[in-house]
Amino acid sequence: MSAQHKLMLTNTLTRTKEEFVPIDEKNVRMYVCGPTVYDYAHVGNARPVVVFDVLARLLRLIYGKEHVTYARNITDVDDKINARAAEEGITIRELTETTAQQFHDDMAALGAQSPDIEPRATEHIEEMKQIIETLVEKGHAYVVDDHVLFNVPSMEDYGKLSGRSLDEMIAGARVEVATYKKDPTDFVLWKPAGEGEPGWDSPCGIERPGRPGWHIECSAMSAKHLGTVFDIHGGGIDLTFPHHENEIAQSRCAHGTPVMANVWMHNGFLQVEGEKMSKSLGNFYTVHELLESENFGGRKWSGEAIRYTLLQTQYRQPIDFTEKGLVEAEKQIKRWTDLFIKLGVVQNSDPKPENEVVMGLTDDLNTPRAFAAMHKLARNARSGDKEAAQQLADSLAFLGFDPKSWVEAQTREEQSTLENIDPALQARVEEQIALRLEARKNKDFAESDRIRDELAAEGIILKDQKNKETGEIETTWEVK
Ligand code: AMP
Ligand code: ZN
Repeated sequence: MSAQHKLMLTNTLTRTKEEFVPIDEKNVRMYVCGPTVYDYAHVGNARPVVVFDVLARLLRLIYGKEHVTYARNITDVDDKINARAAEEGITIRELTETTAQQFHDDMAALGAQSPDIEPRATEHIEEMKQIIETLVEKGHAYVVDDHVLFNVPSMEDYGKLSGRSLDEMIAGARVEVATYKKDPTDFVLWKPAGEGEPGWDSPCGIERPGRPGWHIECSAMSAKHLGTVFDIHGGGIDLTFPHHENEIAQSRCAHGTPVMANVWMHNGFLQVEGEKMSKSLGNFYTVHELLESENFGGRKWSGEAIRYTLLQTQYRQPIDFTEKGLVEAEKQIKRWTDLFIKLGVVQNSDPKPENEVVMGLTDDLNTPRAFAAMHKLARNARSGDKEAAQQLADSLAFLGFDPKSWVEAQTREEQSTLENIDPALQARVEEQIALRLEARKNKDFAESDRIRDELAAEGIILKDQKNKETGEIETTWEVK
């Protein structure tokens, strides 16, 4: 399949949209920075999960399921984790375990498949220490005050990914300037563990127990599971600097490689109802509360509507997440469900997307283009093209939606509406239907129409359908 699809991806490193050529077609490797597990994921955090889930699905389609390795880590050691566990009076492990479980549940509700590998930072401390030792040996890092720091000026082409000047980096908000640093841009690889905080035996002869900095985690986990040079590295745009820049510095300097990953991809930010999401503005929403509470728009939302909304915008563009967008998503899902019920179609067990949908996705994950192709399929299906309906259901399923469950839920709902109808009404309608059939047999069409119109005036709609086997007209009804 590979030769048929030319996959174009925008590479932050080269600032161009370029053809993706894997290092090894038999093992295409992607790493995406995962959550720091101290609190529920907010709807912005869900965006990279959904975006890179679509990319993983596309890579599997192109190269084959068994030829793609997708790794997304869990950061389970961090200052925010320590602080939150102390605040709640629970152990760090309790906090990270329950938060990771919640993250998995929420992302599954959004239709995101699990990555192939989900490494945890605390299980890779030895690998981190090894990289740190190598960096010190090679003169890229130094020990001071029980810390190990990466010396930024020791790397000639530091800053290539973000394209920042040294002055900008010094001014950068997330660069802490501490007196023990040789250079203001130097960053932490290892630091002492505070009282009561988790700590491990330190590298480089440091006696105090310590713990790793954030950036070194991803360098160690990606190298262990994907190799020192791999294909794609992803995350949100805010991670470009300093996190990804520092991952690159550590990995390249330790392993002596020209790149850490060939392609660097960054999703744009999500805002809510036109404003940056923040707790102080009161517009900060977790996926969990969208699914389970009535905090946003006064009602609960389905994971599928959230996924639909996140995919309406191409991943590099900013998204405005709105109640109106979710309502639109639900309406669209309902229209497609009606169509599938009418044509008796659900997705195949191994659904393949239709060609124009693939064309959209291979154009730098242009999901709006893929949706336009699906709207076209729906138009054709509406005029009775069952094959188009099948392609639509399969394309939706490929993109992580579940048309079968839409059809089942709607059928159940219709069934229960029917069951809730007053038995007296039911008997009366059935009687009228029988009288109408009798009238039709006698070719008394005026009487047959009168009965139909009278019921319609009460909001009861009759539908005639020919039974294919008997050739008889059968009448069903619904309450509008
Ligand atoms: P964090 O827990 O802050 O490291 O974020 C986890 C992931 O979510 C990273 O890839 C971030 O870039 C991404 N992210 C955080 N906030 C947003 C947002 N508002 N919109 C899109 N992506 C975000
Ligand atoms: Zn990372």
